Amino acid sequence: MAIQRPKGTQDHLPDGSPKLSTDIRASAFRHVTETAQRVLERAGAQFISTPLFEEADLVKRGVGGSTDIVRKEMFTVYYFGDHGGFILRPEGTAGIVRAYLQNGLKQLPAPLKLWTHGPMFRAENVQKGRLRQFHQVDYEVLGSADALVDAEAVALMVDVVRELGLKNVWVKLGSIGDPDDREAYNAYLLDLFTPHLERLSDDSKERLTRNPMRILDSKSAEDQHLLTELKVRPMLDFLGTEAATHFGQVQGYLKAWNIDFDVDPSIVRGLDYYRRTAWELHHGGVGAKSALGGGGRYDGLAEQLGGSVVPGIGWAFGIERLLLALEAEGVSLPEPRGPLLYLAALDEENVPYAATLARKAQAGIRAEFAYRAMKPGSAFKDAERRGAVWAGLIGSEEAANGTLSLKNMQTGEQKVVETAELDDFIALSRL
Ligand code: AMP
Repeated sequence: MAIQRPKGTQDHLPDGSPKLSTDIRASAFRHVTETAQRVLERAGAQFISTPLFEEADLVKRGVGGSTDIVRKEMFTVYYFGDHGGFILRPEGTAGIVRAYLQNGLKQLPAPLKLWTHGPMFRAENVQKGRLRQFHQVDYEVLGSADALVDAEAVALMVDVVRELGLKNVWVKLGSIGDPDDREAYNAYLLDLFTPHLERLSDDSKERLTRNPMRILDSKSAEDQHLLTELKVRPMLDFLGTEAATHFGQVQGYLKAWNIDFDVDPSIVRGLDYYRRTAWELHHGGVGAKSALGGGGRYDGLAEQLGGSVVPGIGWAFGIERLLLALEAEGVSLPEPRGPLLYLAALDEENVPYAATLARKAQAGIRAEFAYRAMKPGSAFKDAERRGAVWAGLIGSEEAANGTLSLKNMQTGEQKVVETAELDDFIALSRL
């Protein structure tokens, strides 16, 4: 049998491919990244790109040793003579913060807004919207702890999905406080759960010793049942004055900018370096449990990676999930476009001439040509299949006169143009 792609990966295919769906249409992907680029660069974000593989330690410290990602889902990279200390990146933030520290980006005006997009890798159980190689758009802001930065980050995430045409989206906003607040909350959770230790899932038993807050994130039904039964108080009840003020400011700015959100006390980010604002972006068509994306402030991360203290905040959304959401809402994506000009020679000797004219036209427009001589009927059919706007035929008469017979494939209009005037014709955008 012919070799197949690995489980949990997808090919992104050209328009018109027989097995095409929205989430594997390469042009749809590009539409998402181009829209994100437009929105984010209007706000001053600059593009950054970091390696697809990094030191395993970066991910352990950058994502957190107690997370499922690090414990169960990392792809290790081996090659001849290697110690196996590299992994394929499961997310974008750790690599970007590493690059910021390593390349002295602190010297650039702060806050520094960065964005990127690209593949991420997690060895997950594969299901709809859950892949082993998936793609994210990422936005990170480094060098400011101001609540305005948080509000702008949330607003820009909403702007991107709105500009793409999604309507059925909402933000769940929370705050996980400062380290002291979290310590108090974890102590509360430890007291609360210890008498019920036996009822917790094995994963959560371990979480209770390492980081009790992560139990709230558990996907286990028993854990969720226990959480409801014990009426666990939310992290928001434990915010100190400073974190509470910051959270109030973020909400105030979002309201002033008409960005809808719900305060969701259940949002948690259990790792040490997360701080204050955390949020998720949800969509009705992708299932209640699965977010389109999420974000949060991570003021302790740079220090955790061995650098100086650099406040930071960022978000990411999954492109595949976003495309599924667009499909669920019936948002139409830009249609594939064929060439503006398609040239075909009617006899072999004029094929190179047609090619030369088309190549000249390529300087200004999308132009294609036939690689062999064609009869008018099949040339028009070919032009139509390729979605061409104008089809031009070149026979010996046209070659001798220096003309082109053009037909508009959409309106049926026909005209003869002097090849010397082709440039003018293109320039006047009548092509
Ligand atoms: P996270 O980095 O886990 O907060 O994920 C951010 C977003 O990336 C999620 O909301 C999803 O849209 C997307 N995502 C995460 N993991 C996967 C996956 N395995 N397959 C597809 N998309 C994913």
